[in-house]
This record gives sequence, structure tokens and C-alpha cells, in this order.
Amino acid sequence: MANLLIKNIEIVTMNEKNEIFVGDIIVEDDLINQIGKNLPISHADKVIDGKGRTIIPGFVQTHIHLCQTLFRGRADDLELLDWLKKKIWPLEAAHDEESIYYSALLGIGELIQSGTTTIVDMETVHHTDFAFQAIAASGMRALSGKVMMDKGNEAPKILQENTIASIQKSVDLLEKWNMYDQGRIKYAFSPRFVVSCSEELLKEVSRLSILYHVYVHTHASENRGEIEIVEYETGMRNVTYLDHQLRTGSRGIWNDVDGQSKCVITYQELAKINHFECSREFHFPTTPDPIVGAHYLYTYTAVICEVEVNLLTGMVDVLQIDHVVADGPVVNPMGYLGQIEGGAIMALGFTLHEDAVMDVAQYMTKNLDTYLIPMIFDVPVNQSVEAIEKLLPDDQYGPLIQ
Ligand SMILES: [Zn+2]
Repeated sequence: MANLLIKNIEIVTMNEKNEIFVGDIIVEDDLINQIGKNLPISHADKVIDGKGRTIIPGFVQTHIHLCQTLFRGRADDLELLDWLKKKIWPLEAAHDEESIYYSALLGIGELIQSGTTTIVDMETVHHTDFAFQAIAASGMRALSGKVMMDKGNEAPKILQENTIASIQKSVDLLEKWNMYDQGRIKYAFSPRFVVSCSEELLKEVSRLSILYHVYVHTHASENRGEIEIVEYETGMRNVTYLDHQLRTGSRGIWNDVDGQSKCVITYQELAKINHFECSREFHFPTTPDPIVGAHYLYTYTAVICEVEVNLLTGMVDVLQIDHVVADGPVVNPMGYLGQIEGGAIMALGFTLHEDAVMDVAQYMTKNLDTYLIPMIFDVPVNQSVEAIEKLLPDDQYGPLIQ
């Protein structure tokens, strides 16, 4: 293919300094060859003036099922296991080679349209070769694999696999597609989730993923029903069990937390997967529901506040708050900051503004005309939060179970 020059465009790089600048890009034979300011160009077959536009690296979609594109809108508002049993499994069972191919192609078309150039995909039990053909034809960079399901009898018969056949089919696809087109396509063993995979299958997936040096892509702890089944069957928490069987370490891709209040993975499980040291076990204080045994987390914090006092009126302005919190490994930095800063604002309100009279755990002041909560103008612009993430084995000031 000929040379393409895109000039005068705002370029969002992903270089070491994450630079953003207005410059030029030269594409030669489908590859970005040069990025820079005022590039000396001797010849370009096509020139695009990018003035007023921005170019960014492609987005990465880290979990998708291209085989489910055609099911959109057909299975909303259902709890995970009902969603699978009543809708998704019967629909996946109804796929044929052609529908898998076009489902993948349509999904990829939508992804490209929104700027996505790399995906982590999980297919269904059958016809995965046709999804790979669609990915190959599209130019999309992908990690994908056939789903593995060798346990349970609640899925349609056609999706119930024999352990050895499931592994053999996966290996056949791996040998055909892994590293296709100079590594644009990679294979990932894709056991669906613990509920539909035998221990034997997971152990073999672990062994083969090391042997072939490929990823394992699975689901874990998407909802409470699933966790309870796994805990009942194995005596272990879901992620602990998976980690025990798969031993994937950094080669594992875990779709385990939905980011909502249903986060029911333990801190220790997360820390373990990420190879952090974690000396005490406790849970995220996400819900008071006794089913998941949630409880509250207590930590030690040192806080320094800088204040300015108006000697005439007595008005106090908080200028800066600095926190140092002994929390152990931080797995969700934004959530962590939100908790600490939010807590500080509550404390600021209690200390300076709120005349919150309480009697036997009841608020006596219930109206905002007497009970003044802090507003955005009361919150200091500067708050720094420092986490003590590494705790010594005999640490007495880290997170404690309550
Ligand atoms: Zn999924």
C-alpha cells in the first residue's frame, strides 16, 4: 500500500511521557512509520489535513463475547444464572457456522466504529473457527478462544462437553490460530466459569496454558448465586478455588468484579492474584447482607489539617488535609481516594458546621436550616492521601477485622 501522511493533527501518544502534541504521522504499508513535529516528507501518495482533529491509539475492549452480538436486547434484567439458563445458553446452542461468523463480524464492525482495535473475546462451545475467520478478515487484534463447559446438565445438551473432547478442540484451535498474522491473533483457553467446568478440566487448562504459553480467560464471582454454588461444591471461595486449580499467576484474566455493590471478592483473594503480601484476611465492607459475611474494616490513619482562623469572626477555613493510612495493598486507587476524601469531608462537617444533636442514635436536628452540611466551598482544594501498602508481619496498625 502507498504512503499516507496525516499532518497538523493533535496526537495523543502513549510514549513514556504520555505526550500530546500537534504533529504529523506517516503511515507506510499499513504501519505507522513515524510520528513527530514537522516531519521531512519526500513523497506521500495521500495527504490528510488533520487540523482541528485529534488522533488517539485504539481502544482495548477487555471482555466481550462476539458470539452474543445477535442476542442483544433479548436477555435483559436477569440474574446471572437465570440469564444463562433461560436465554444465553439456548441461544448459543442455536448458533451455526454462518451465524457465528456474521455475529463476530457485526460485533467487530461496531467495535471498529467506536475506535476499538483490540479485544479480549470469548466464544461459545462450537464453531469458534468461524469467529476466528471473521477476526482474521477484519484486521482486529484479538485474544480469543472457544468456551469450555464439561460439567453440569442445565445447559442444552449440545453445549455439554466431554472433558477430553473440550480440551482437544481447544488445542486444535490454538494450534491453528495462535500467533496468526504475526501475533495479531492469540489464543486463550476459555473455561466458562467454575460452575460449568470440572476440576480435571481446569487442571489440564493450567498445564496446557503453561506448555503453550497462552492466556486463560474466564469469569469469576459475577454474582452471589454463583459464589454460593462454588463454595458449597468446593468448600472454597470462588477465586481462591480458581487460583488453586489454574495457577495462572500473571497469565490469568479474571472478570471478577462488576464494579457495583455486588463486589463479593475478598481483599485477600485480590491481593493474592496480584502477588501482594497480605497478612490478615478481611472483606470489603460492601454490604450489610449476612449472606456474604460482610463486615467493616478498621484502619489506623494519621491526619494533619492546616487551618486559617479569622480572629474577628472565629470562622475556620480548612486549607489542606494530609492523610497517611495504613491500609495494605490498594487495589482500586480511585475508589480508595473517594473513601478517604469522602470520610474527611464528613469529619470536616461534623467538626465545623453540623450541629448534629443525637439522642439514642437518633438525629434530633433534621432540617437543613439548622443542620448545615459542608458544601463544595468548604472542602479544601488540597488533600493528599498516602497509603502505607506494605505491612510488616507484626504490624499492629494495619487493617483489622471487626
Ligand atoms: Zn463474559
